[in-house]
Amino acid sequence: MAGRIRDEDIATVRERAAIDDVVSAYVTLRGAGGGSQKGLCPFHDEKTPSFTVTPARQYFHCFGCGQGGDVFTFLQQIEGLSFVEAAEKLAARFGVELRYTEGGPRSGGDHGQRQRLVEANRLAQQFYAAQLAESAEAVPGRQFLAERGFDRDVADRFGVGFAPRSGEALLRHLRGRDVRDDDLVAAGLVGRSSRGLYDRFRGRLLWPIRELSGEVVGFGARRLFDDDRIDAKYLNTAESPLYKKSHLLYGVDLARREIARAGQAVVVEGYTDVMACHLAGVPTAVATCGTAFGADHVRVLRRLLLDHDEFRGEVIFTFDGDEAGQRAALKAFEGDQQFVAQTYVAVEPGGMDPCDLRLQHGDAAVRELVASRVPLYRFVLRNVVDRYDLERADGRIDAVRAAASLVVSVRDRSKVDAFARELAGMVGVDPDDVRGAVRHASRQRQPARRPAVGDRNAQVVQGEALPPDTPSVGDPRFTDEREALKAVVQHPQLVPDPPGLDATDFHHPLLQAVWTAVAAAPLPRGAEAGWFDGVRERAGDATASVLSRLAVEPLRTAGEPDARLVAALLARLQELTAARRIEEIKSRLQRTNPVEQASDYNRMFGELVALEQHRRQLRERAIGSIG
Ligand SMILES: [Zn+2]
Repeated sequence: MAGRIRDEDIATVRERAAIDDVVSAYVTLRGAGGGSQKGLCPFHDEKTPSFTVTPARQYFHCFGCGQGGDVFTFLQQIEGLSFVEAAEKLAARFGVELRYTEGGPRSGGDHGQRQRLVEANRLAQQFYAAQLAESAEAVPGRQFLAERGFDRDVADRFGVGFAPRSGEALLRHLRGRDVRDDDLVAAGLVGRSSRGLYDRFRGRLLWPIRELSGEVVGFGARRLFDDDRIDAKYLNTAESPLYKKSHLLYGVDLARREIARAGQAVVVEGYTDVMACHLAGVPTAVATCGTAFGADHVRVLRRLLLDHDEFRGEVIFTFDGDEAGQRAALKAFEGDQQFVAQTYVAVEPGGMDPCDLRLQHGDAAVRELVASRVPLYRFVLRNVVDRYDLERADGRIDAVRAAASLVVSVRDRSKVDAFARELAGMVGVDPDDVRGAVRHASRQRQPARRPAVGDRNAQVVQGEALPPDTPSVGDPRFTDEREALKAVVQHPQLVPDPPGLDATDFHHPLLQAVWTAVAAAPLPRGAEAGWFDGVRERAGDATASVLSRLAVEPLRTAGEPDARLVAALLARLQELTAARRIEEIKSRLQRTNPVEQASDYNRMFGELVALEQHRRQLRERAIGSIG
């Protein structure tokens, strides 16, 4: 049975273990006057620091959740330790020799499990590091590092190691150090099969994964040999009493002070990227360990960044520019909104990760990549907008609609207008149009309902996100095109010759097909019974139902149509084409710098003036014919 630690030793630990020192390994503290320090409480979620540490009294208290106590209590609560474990951990750190009332000093069995697992990991890390440095078997590991610009000193600094291939090397080594088999299994270092115990990591390059406090709690392991029995490129320690992957960040022990100082954290994808960043002068880099960046990681970083209402740290992700990275960005956008506002994205145009970038272009390129960050929302909007052809009016409308539904998802209402203005600039449309689309999208959100398949024509009116190439013919955007075609199909003898239209005046593929079929043969100048059959044949089966509807649906104008009405409907289409062209040029002008691209700008401006003139003539003709 474990003995009780002597009271005077507890007192010595309490004296030597400065509480601000212990706490600041987990929480960034700032001076708060009166000798106190404040930070974001690690025991509850908060935006304004109410977690207070008073070194003079060796005490902490949170005014938000009421947690408080001394240095032992803090360690017990944050690490989930027993009192004895907390005392042992502090004693080891602050150099106090503990004595026990029974059983003598520190007889192996006195250690709590957590401390034993930490010790096993520490010994394993030393063993693996020595293997990397010395073993002949580790040549591929040393080569792997050298090829990425990491020499032996760097490997030492980051504690990188090599796991021998034999399958029992670590087991034998740690047994020799009196580590219990059960603890090796519990720490995830050793596995247990029907044939006995075996090393979990074999023939792999290992990165030690540490807690904020610097304790090794597990490893990330990269495949080196083609005959590795496990296919996965990376293996990580399995979840254990020590290893909780949802909040572990590789490099956080090295980065935490810089993260607090700079108010910035850089999240990269791999262990080698963390190393490259730190070496290149970006000491705030961390990476997740075998899992996606999640809510627990956010909380860890926020505490280090000391986020509060007046100050928000920056979190910069070095996403791949590829589709996976973009999807991750979109997903992040839909997550925690406060976090989104402080999130940035740094994308290397060539798709290189920080490790490759440093290798090929040097340290400065890595620093520049981080400096080139853009706000996440801008990156996401850009990605959405880029899917559309902004040279086309309907492309711009679709882009605004798609992006507006994202803008609406921003819960911080004060940001919505700024995003809308930015989106307008990106697409090249009037900010009021975007605001309208955002209002529309926000009405659409409640209730969020997808249209039933048979309900398409009705729903599409509301701008539901159908693929841009398959809108319904019933879409109001095509009303004028439909009216013109109805007039032509029902009263071909009233159509002026030449009609003055061409296929580009129609924007729905089916309506365009109908027009092409109409224009392919001469218009009838009297009653020609076979004409409509010819159109139907030329237009093909795909248009059959559209054509029959155009043939029977009454025109929207009252009274019997005459030549002037038909001419007016056709002029209206030409006018719309001109208007579209005008919008295109305006949009391009908005995206053109009048000083730097002066000749383009002036040419487009001239074209714009001419088109405006042409459009006015068409308008007069359309109204004049009707009136
Ligand atoms: Zn609290």
